[in-house]
Amino acid sequence: MTLHVRSNQPSLDNFWMPFTANRQFKAAPRLLSGAKGMYYTDIDGNSVLDGTSGLWCVNAGHGRAQIAEAVARQLGELDYAPTFQMGHPIVFAFAEKLAAMAPGGKEGGLDRVFFTGSGSESVDTALKIAIAYQRAIGQGTRTRIIGREKGYHGVGFGGISVGGLVNNRRVFPQIPADHMRHTLDIERNAFSKGLPAHGIELAEDLERLVALHGAETIAAVIVEPMAGSAGVVLPPKGYLERLRATADKYGILLIFDEVITGFGRLGTPFATDYFGVTPDIVTTAKGLTNGAIPMGAVFASRKVHDGLMTGPENQIELFHGYTYSGHPVACAAGLATLGIYAEEGLLTRGAALAEYWQEALHSLKDLPHVVDIRNLGLVGAIELRPRDGAPGARAYEIFVECFRKGLLIRVTGDIIALSPPLIVEKDQIDTIVSVIGDTLKSAA
Ligand code: PLP
Repeated sequence: MTLHVRSNQPSLDNFWMPFTANRQFKAAPRLLSGAKGMYYTDIDGNSVLDGTSGLWCVNAGHGRAQIAEAVARQLGELDYAPTFQMGHPIVFAFAEKLAAMAPGGKEGGLDRVFFTGSGSESVDTALKIAIAYQRAIGQGTRTRIIGREKGYHGVGFGGISVGGLVNNRRVFPQIPADHMRHTLDIERNAFSKGLPAHGIELAEDLERLVALHGAETIAAVIVEPMAGSAGVVLPPKGYLERLRATADKYGILLIFDEVITGFGRLGTPFATDYFGVTPDIVTTAKGLTNGAIPMGAVFASRKVHDGLMTGPENQIELFHGYTYSGHPVACAAGLATLGIYAEEGLLTRGAALAEYWQEALHSLKDLPHVVDIRNLGLVGAIELRPRDGAPGARAYEIFVECFRKGLLIRVTGDIIALSPPLIVEKDQIDTIVSVIGDTLKSAA
């Protein structure tokens, strides 16, 4: 049977939707047809407040004319050019601009930039750089990567291997990896405002895995400084500092996956800046181009980069890259995006709103089903008690109902995750919270 939303709309049969219950969705679809500022419009003309920046990516809000104009201009000028043994000015210009704001600050910042097409590609690129670097410095036995339970690092084979979400892993083979425990501890940390107080000792898992596998087998450890996709899992106070110290002690590279936290989400340009802990490699995507054109960027320290710039000069140093690495149109979108971030102060706007956001979210504390509320910067999560025998059902129903009421939220299991565009105003925060509150009050 061919499913149509409306007689004048295309069939829903052919698009195999990602991370979607295809049959359930196609029986009751939600279709967005426009977006401007903080709002989507659905195909019936209803306005939907974006509480999630699309998928954590539209940090400057929707429909930005500067990005559209830059993309159109670039398409007219140079639509595509390879970056293998070839270059074009805009990719170097974009890398230089990114280097000037690189995670880790001006001195010693990670100012060597490798472009990819997505967050997943950024992660797999970072893992390969780490392994290649270790080999280049004479540490070729270091091929294992340490990740963490509940980690999400995209869907490449590298990313699922170091990731810790079981549904994404269980049917696929993996590269050598092991995992630290996650840091979500509701029993001790429920309703923490900002970073949880308890759990720094979980960073000792890296020591334990070094003892188990031998440091000489471990190339890198990768974590999201704040895990988003698993339902917002925050690092306990002091945790990232301890990971950094342990990684240094054993010659293990530290990778921060900043695909979500990069570009202002925590009220600083990068989580690296927020925590004052500088890793060796940072992965980004999403907010890099405001989600408008697919692109990712991996930032590497000079130590890592220069460690690979050895051997004869006519030799390719890293056998890795994508057709779309440094795509000129994506670079144009990225440069325009950085321009908007700078002009409107968006990379630090989250800091000014964080307190208001925190208090607004925590006002939902005593509502039915709520077992925890977590927040940092302009990120929030409301964790619900699962319905007996039907995990995820309650949150999914709330998601559907919020959408009907004109609010886009994101749910993972029984956790509501929120990450509005960084242009959000206080009255829109109030709307997000009141729609969720009303929906929780009547939720089964
Ligand atoms: N890493 C993190 C931390 C993410 O949150 C995501 C996506 O949500 C990815 C990697 C994968 O990015 P993409 O979906 O662009 O491949």
